[in-house]
Amino acid sequence: MTVAQVEDILGEAGYLAKQQEGFVVRPSQIKMSQRIAETIAARKTLLVEAGTGTGKTFAYLVPALQSGAKVIISTGSRHLQDQLFKTDLPRLLAGLGPRPHALLKGRNNYLCLYRLEQTVEMYRWQLRMGFEDLDQVKAWSLTTDHGDVSSLAEVAEDAPVWSLVTSTADSCLGSACAHYENCFVAKARARAQEAQVVVVNHHLFFADAVMRDEGFAEILPQAEVIVFDEAHQLPDVASQFFGDMVSSRQILDLVRDSRTELAQAAADMGPMKEVLDAPDPAVALVRQAMGEAPRRGKFIDIDGAVQMPMQVLEQALKTLQELLKSQAERSRGLEKLAERSAGLLQGFSQLNHARQIADEVHWFEAFKQSWSLGITPLDVQKPFQDMMTAYPAAWILTSATLAVDGDFSYFARQLGLSSSDGEVFESPFDYAQQGLLYAPRNLPDPRQEDYLPRLVEEIRALLQASQGRAFLLFTSHRALRQAAELLKDLPWPVLVQGSQPRHSLLQAFREAGNAVLLGTGSFWEGVDVQGEALSLVVIDKLPFSSPGDPLLEARTAVIQQRGGSAFFELQLPEAIMSLKQGAGRLIRSITDRGVLVIADPRLYTQAYGRSIISALPRMARTHDRARVVEFFKEGSGASVSNRNGG
Ligand code: SF4
Repeated sequence: MTVAQVEDILGEAGYLAKQQEGFVVRPSQIKMSQRIAETIAARKTLLVEAGTGTGKTFAYLVPALQSGAKVIISTGSRHLQDQLFKTDLPRLLAGLGPRPHALLKGRNNYLCLYRLEQTVEMYRWQLRMGFEDLDQVKAWSLTTDHGDVSSLAEVAEDAPVWSLVTSTADSCLGSACAHYENCFVAKARARAQEAQVVVVNHHLFFADAVMRDEGFAEILPQAEVIVFDEAHQLPDVASQFFGDMVSSRQILDLVRDSRTELAQAAADMGPMKEVLDAPDPAVALVRQAMGEAPRRGKFIDIDGAVQMPMQVLEQALKTLQELLKSQAERSRGLEKLAERSAGLLQGFSQLNHARQIADEVHWFEAFKQSWSLGITPLDVQKPFQDMMTAYPAAWILTSATLAVDGDFSYFARQLGLSSSDGEVFESPFDYAQQGLLYAPRNLPDPRQEDYLPRLVEEIRALLQASQGRAFLLFTSHRALRQAAELLKDLPWPVLVQGSQPRHSLLQAFREAGNAVLLGTGSFWEGVDVQGEALSLVVIDKLPFSSPGDPLLEARTAVIQQRGGSAFFELQLPEAIMSLKQGAGRLIRSITDRGVLVIADPRLYTQAYGRSIISALPRMARTHDRARVVEFFKEGSGASVSNRNGG
């Protein structure tokens, strides 16, 4: 695709400007699109930081679609995947002409007809007694074309029934399944195989590239263009998948499925109760031995305490595995369970007997009633590079936050990429006019006891000026809970993370128009609220990672051993990236106005604060709350929505 052809679609006289109401021509979008077109033609790698409002989705979709190549687009979440597939792609294709395109999610997003049949059999008494969710799923299974569970709105996303009836790699019978012809997973994969453009998410991409268990492995080698949107998440996602993990959930699921399958296919066998009953209490003993929860730490710290219960659990898994192996011939389901138990036992034994080695971290995580154990590599450069070599496509990695003040080194180093392949496309927003950065001078050091109550007083005054319309973003759940308690009497609707599902909170926030939303991690990114409903973003502390995180600790030690500064090489760039994401929630369109408050006084008392400020959008700055009041009094114009695709 040539530079002129990009203009024909995204430029002043282009198709989108003529045909689509609300489309605003943006020079940075055109330039980014042209740069991506060149990269695709040369089959190279490009890192692109696209400032908020650049319209990065269309900027990569246009050259990718027009290249005629097989394209895989990976997004940061299923929600973004749906948005791209159901909104952005159809808008472009309406003008560019149809292209075969497909949405592919991880198999646990699809109904498994075999598991549904088994579950209905197992719960038939409950069905009669009104196990309504299962009833709903059963009725829906007869009418749905694609079996994507997100389309059955009547059953909540987190309803327990889904874990019983969705597809899992462990339980799938593949082509030996009696339902194979109608299988939703198989159909989704077949569509992806045929499509020119396949939309996936990072978890599916890595699960498959690494473990080859999501059936995407046949599609990946065909890809000529691979686009990662929200690419700043890749180092974390890659770390998860290039390591190993076993969870209590996997063990309990194995026991539950074994119980069901044995009851159906080997009911004539002698007593199995003892074997099937043994793992559950052992799982609980391991949890107990891990101590207080929630907690995450180095395995070595609990090694002594969990040794005995882990041995008991390993023995229970061995006995179960032997039982399943002895019955494997009796059904395809038992054969699969025998394989699955062997894999789980092997993974568990490895983790149980592994000892810490230099380039990986052996960790545990305890929740109220569950736990996980894992090994994570300290760096993922090599496996990521091996993956890129194995799939020699044009690789485009884009996000609103990939660079620190224009420098891609931090991000690029983590994946073994070259920072010289990076390019920044500035936001078209006039931040100096549209935004104000306020750093209050009256707050104590955030480590002091009275920090939070004093911050809450400051927030009350700010909310008076903004009349609600705010996101209050916290770096810890503890601070969130305390602030929610102290602010519950506000005269505006108060929405607190955890009180309802994330999408309902966001919907309520948009609808109210003057609400105050309190959130942590998941609200720092991927949230788009345009217009006056969001005019104030308050960030409680600079988002440095918790020092107790075992991965951070191990990476810090490596940097210190070679004489480097873990703070400047690791913690600061990471905090800047998070802060840019959090700050990016505020100005979402060319008419948005708003105030960003970074309450942590270290922003101006510490020398590194200057690096943080210079990495943020160039807003006007003040330490004076009166200026904030004035800013809101100056009023705000009506906002127009962003119709440029992200
Ligand atoms: S092929 Fe696998 S996913 Fe499909 S219905 Fe059968 S068991 Fe379920």
